Amino acid sequence: MAQIHQATVFVQQPIHFREDPVSMTCPVCQNQIVTSTTYTAGTLAWVICGILILIGLWLGCCLIPFCLNGCKDVAHTCPNCQAQVGKYSRM
Ligand SMILES: [Zn+2]
Repeated sequence: MAQIHQATVFVQQPIHFREDPVSMTCPVCQNQIVTSTTYTAGTLAWVICGILILIGLWLGCCLIPFCLNGCKDVAHTCPNCQAQVGKYSRM
């Protein structure tokens, strides 16, 4: 007796992650969750840092992008299983 394994395909609307928490179904633990957001220094922060260094403002000013949430990427994690379910990148 061969067993038929049916792949479960979850058809989910593509979620556009922004800065705000998103209500969604966690793809990992399948719970209905509202993502918790964490700001991480993303590509834009590094780019601004690099630009500031090139301009010559290296005396600590290049660290400014890392202090501004407006320059940071936002990581969306599931509060239930702590898996990262999405990311909002500014670049
Ligand atoms: Zn989860």
